[in-house]
Amino acid sequence: MQRLNVVLELGIQVCVFLITLLGWYIAVVEVGVNWLIRHERRIVLGFSYAGFMQVALLSILVLYVQLCQGKTTHNVPRYNLPARESIRGSYECTNEQGDLKVCDKDGCSGSWRPPRAHHCSTCGVCRLDFDHHCSWLGNCVTTTRIQRFLCLLALVPVSATVGWLPILPRALDHISLALSVSRADEWCRKFWWDPWYSWIFIGGPPGRYIVGSFLGFRLLKKERGPEDNFPGNVIELPHLRLVLMLLFSVIFVALSMALLISTFLNISRGQTTLETLRIRGKMNAVRYIYVPSDRIEGSEHNLGEVFTVDWNERIYDLGFKENWRAVLAKDRHRDAEYSWPRLNPEIIQMLRKQT
Ligand SMILES: [Zn+2]
Ligand SMILES: [Zn+2]
Repeated sequence: MQRLNVVLELGIQVCVFLITLLGWYIAVVEVGVNWLIRHERRIVLGFSYAGFMQVALLSILVLYVQLCQGKTTHNVPRYNLPARESIRGSYECTNEQGDLKVCDKDGCSGSWRPPRAHHCSTCGVCRLDFDHHCSWLGNCVTTTRIQRFLCLLALVPVSATVGWLPILPRALDHISLALSVSRADEWCRKFWWDPWYSWIFIGGPPGRYIVGSFLGFRLLKKERGPEDNFPGNVIELPHLRLVLMLLFSVIFVALSMALLISTFLNISRGQTTLETLRIRGKMNAVRYIYVPSDRIEGSEHNLGEVFTVDWNERIYDLGFKENWRAVLAKDRHRDAEYSWPRLNPEIIQMLRKQT
């Protein structure tokens, strides 16, 4: 199963990479250079458009490749299990005895899994500050990498909006022309528009019109001659590749916007995506927090108590500003010594009052 996932995700990565490259070619070469500059003679607009799309799409490619890298290495905890007596602050533990978690899955073989780390079954490693495993990247997204992840998610709708702005009306005209040509064609009517299966065969009613327009573009392609091979013809004449790109853009923009909004809300609440999903799934479950005695916090003695906290409690929520500051700060785990995640001080204070 793990192997199948890895192969599937590799396929997705290759597709995303190729689609982005195709998008770069259409935007920079076909729209910017061939259509705006050579065909329309709008030199300043053409250069500005091609320049912006060049920077935006290459940034997307670089960020995407970076986020795909280090599948078995990035943010993998390599710390020894600390002695209980050496821990000075409050920490999340696994049971009422205040024990720390170890991981026996895959190759982890009993190594320490620090708080907020998670074992990713697809990548086969434990990951510090795990947020979620992303199949589009074939890799985990961690809090350390979330800045680049957010940049990628924000760049996709911005690039798509700028990219489609000058050519969207033409693309929509071409789609409506392709639909009317395909509806008027006898063969298309017989094998696609009239039969009942066109309503359910590919993605329901939207699929009926998508396939119908594809058939129309095939018919329109047959009508083109050598004289139609002028600079900018990809935009001026109905071409299927432009509409395919529109379809991919809509899918990528919808996914990016949904992830961007949910990640923004999670960070603002001091939660990872995994924690949010667990809160939804584990309504009656609890977490354990070890709190050292008030008088001796910071000393080397380890007299304290373990409390149970409901999963709904946002134990790592430090407030909007601090949550974002923590995410945008430098990598906490760059140092040789483990840096413990800070717990919500209000919750710790509330727990202390229970004693
Ligand atoms: Zn593990
Ligand atoms: Zn993973």
